[in-house]
Amino acid sequence: MIPQTFEYTAPKTLDEAVALAEGGAKLLAGGMSLIPMMKLRLAAPEHLVDLGRIKDLNYIREEGGALHIGATATHYSVESSALVRAKCPLLAETASSIGDVQVRNMGTMGGSVAHADPSADYPAALQALEATVVIRGAKGERTVSAADFFVDSFTTTLEPGEIIREIVVPVEEAGIGTSYQKNVQPASGFAIVGVAARIKRSSGKITLARIGVTGLSNRAFRATAAEKALEGKAGSAAEIQAAAAVVAQGIEANADLHASADYRRHLAVIYAAKAITAALGRIA
Ligand SMILES: Cc1cc2nc3c(=O)[nH]c(=O)nc-3n(C[C@H](O)[C@H](O)[C@H](O)COP(=O)(O)OP(=O)(O)OC[C@H]3O[C@@H](n4cnc5c(N)ncnc54)[C@H](O)[C@@H]3O)c2cc1C
Repeated sequence: MIPQTFEYTAPKTLDEAVALAEGGAKLLAGGMSLIPMMKLRLAAPEHLVDLGRIKDLNYIREEGGALHIGATATHYSVESSALVRAKCPLLAETASSIGDVQVRNMGTMGGSVAHADPSADYPAALQALEATVVIRGAKGERTVSAADFFVDSFTTTLEPGEIIREIVVPVEEAGIGTSYQKNVQPASGFAIVGVAARIKRSSGKITLARIGVTGLSNRAFRATAAEKALEGKAGSAAEIQAAAAVVAQGIEANADLHASADYRRHLAVIYAAKAITAALGRIA
């Protein structure tokens, strides 16, 4: 289908983009989610502001013990960055699991995070990484934790006119193992359920466990009951199973044509066990 007619502007600076967004224009990044919605006439913006020419939004750099990823860094650039692979392998692994090569070449991290699809992959990893999202608006800049950023299905804390400038993730210390495991919806690559595990073990005991889950419910979340079940344990098969068993505790599971709520909960347990096992196996 052909989208409704729209005006198109491609500013070169973030300030110009903020001013246009403040005036009601819709942001365009990779277009992998927005353009199909426009073609289906589920979205009909009158004015698109393309973020793709703003050089200050496209970077991946290390600063102050963290990786800073500009909003328009593509999934492929996150997946293939030597810096991300070395310093935050969970994020590179997650990016590499998104859709197909065309989607990863066009889609951006900021676009995915802003879109907040309940089956998107990054949100699980960003919860496990305790990442932050840096947002620019007309009144200045604010930083929001990933835990607070995702509010509901396709709903975030972004206010009208605000733009994600960057996502900040920690540089992993020694002794931490991570893994992202997902049950894939074969037509799109989206997660039916995806689990990101980030685990630290020292002197034979798990001292930190962070488990992010996507696909199961309306928004990605931290499985705190599973985290608590792991901390202080050695990480035996029985302990992993016991932690995975409570991954969906207190969560209202989604149901759609791809999977019932019960099946999603079942998958969450299996994929949590897989992610925790793989993360423990990767501790150097
Ligand atoms: C066939 C297919 C398969 C896919 N498979 C997967 C998958 O397996 N896993 C997965 O996670 N995703 C998947 N996706 C989605 C993909 O990752 C998209 O890239 C992503 O959801 C949107 O990113 P984008 O850069 O294309 O944003 P766009 O489509 O350009 O924008 C999406 C939304 O975000 C807003 N926006 C964009 N940038 C910003 C910003 N910096 N600040 C504030 N708002 C902004 C836009 O206004 C729009 O509302 C798939 C998409 C397709 C088409």
